[in-house]
Amino acid sequence: MFGNKISRQLIDIIRDTAVRNRARRIRKITLVAGDEAVISQSLLEHFALMSKGTPAEGALVEIRKENSRVKCEACRIFFKQKSGDTHCPRCGKKGIEFVLGKKFFIESLKIEV
Ligand SMILES: [Zn+2]
Repeated sequence: MFGNKISRQLIDIIRDTAVRNRARRIRKITLVAGDEAVISQSLLEHFALMSKGTPAEGALVEIRKENSRVKCEACRIFFKQKSGDTHCPRCGKKGIEFVLGKKFFIESLKIEV
């Protein structure tokens, strides 16, 4: 059950984030996914089912498809390249272009505390 594993991972990440931020509820989750990522409608339905009783219950999931992001090794963040510039917006170091492909990550969570 591939979808099962992904939604479980998602819920784990979301639950950790909720605990860290003392969130009572997660309102919205924004995911950035590569072109080949298998985030389908059924995965989202499964996620909705599995998040019942967790702070993520009823959260809105938004998926943004992107080919690549730039990764800063120093800050461990992903950011969007701006007109060919791959310098990190946080520390100013040059980042490495990272093709997302099948990968996805959570870009932001809207929480209620
Ligand atoms: Zn940086």
